[in-house]
Amino acid sequence: MNDAEQTLYRTRLTADLSRQLDSIAGLLGAAGKVAADVSSDMRQARMDAMAQQVNTRDQLEKFNLRRRKVEAALARIDAGSYGLCCECRATMEGERLDSDPAEVFCQECADEREAP
Ligand SMILES: [Zn+2]
Repeated sequence: MNDAEQTLYRTRLTADLSRQLDSIAGLLGAAGKVAADVSSDMRQARMDAMAQQVNTRDQLEKFNLRRRKVEAALARIDAGSYGLCCECRATMEGERLDSDPAEVFCQECADEREAP
């Protein structure tokens, strides 16, 4: 992979990372609002707030998972191992990185992992 390609992937990953961080910050702001609603002693409001908290937690988990995957990809760029499969060290297919620059495995290793 040449420097220009790597710079392009780094730009996409950095933008992805800031989207995840924005989403996480937004959810944490919303979570604060839920906590305030809980102080109301209406039973229904409390149950709604609890359901919303579970939903918020699931979403937070999803965003954090993606954030970690993107951060790991950026770390691989810094380490000079970006674009290599984390399993077999083969050079990853360009179209695979184009569809997700945070991709970890080559097609073959990914298929093996998904196999039952
Ligand atoms: Zn592989």
